[in-house]
Amino acid sequence: MKACAFYGKRDVRVVDIPVPKVPSNGVLIHVKACGICGTDMHVYNSALLVEASTKKIGGHLIIGHEFTGEIVEIGPDADGFKPGDRVCSVHNKGGLAEYAAVEGDRLENLFSIPDHLPYKTAATLEPLCNPVHSFHMREPGDDETVALFGSGVIGLGYLQALRAYSRARVIVVDISDFKLDVARKIGASETINAKNTDAVKKIKEITGEHTVRYQPSTAGGCDVAVDCAGIPLTLRQCLEVLKPENGTAIVAAIYEDEIPIDANMVVFKYMSVLGSMGYYPEETEEALRLIADGRVNRDILVTHTLPLKDAARGFEVQKDPEKSIKVVIVNE
Ligand SMILES: [Zn+2]
Repeated sequence: MKACAFYGKRDVRVVDIPVPKVPSNGVLIHVKACGICGTDMHVYNSALLVEASTKKIGGHLIIGHEFTGEIVEIGPDADGFKPGDRVCSVHNKGGLAEYAAVEGDRLENLFSIPDHLPYKTAATLEPLCNPVHSFHMREPGDDETVALFGSGVIGLGYLQALRAYSRARVIVVDISDFKLDVARKIGASETINAKNTDAVKKIKEITGEHTVRYQPSTAGGCDVAVDCAGIPLTLRQCLEVLKPENGTAIVAAIYEDEIPIDANMVVFKYMSVLGSMGYYPEETEEALRLIADGRVNRDILVTHTLPLKDAARGFEVQKDPEKSIKVVIVNE
């Protein structure tokens, strides 16, 4: 079968390897669609998280973990699924391939998907689970203001999760007009392109500028600030635009650098800084319901669909933030 293997920085290749054997207590899935994840991009761009994000199959490191497909074979000791079941897999690795085996102790990461839900749409489930979790960490009320930095698939997923539950004012900051346009379609109240606008200054204009006790710098008026961009600047901006007291920063990105931050700002603003990574199984089911019920439109985020043989090109497309939000690789 064809599968996409990691060879090194900026080097993934579609290779031919044997179809995995069905585990005695697991299942074999004919993969229909697999998203390229932000984590996969850390592997691709920087050779980070390689072990966490690839599966060794036939001597190759097979990448991909956001996949959907049809169960084609069941191990003799497996239960809970049957051939023909349509499933979405989260956490399980080795998904950028024609077939993926899931071992018995990992079947809990398989979720049945309804017949009406296309495989390609369901493949966007996992990157909605993280945002659903981030949303529940500190649920913004209808009368609150949120600053959201980064409108990639995680940031936009956060906006979708928030909009499913809350009418809060959301100010979205990014450097791509294309993505900010999608953010407005999803329900951003205001958007700021930080390429040509000082985002912090603009947010203070919108939400009010406030003094902070014992501090030379001023505060914005945001109740919640979320960093989905993952760069030093946006994390610092998150801390700055929060209101003078009891704001909450949600840190929902992976940083490739160590970041000096103004810890006194955290102290004197009585700030909560919450790290958001991962999600609970019930949040996966919740995210799946949001998609299946049409309460979030995940297709708007799928900017490119490519066949498995072009997976390497898929990584290059995913790398270009001006053009792509989510690349999904499909098997015919
Ligand atoms: Zn992922």
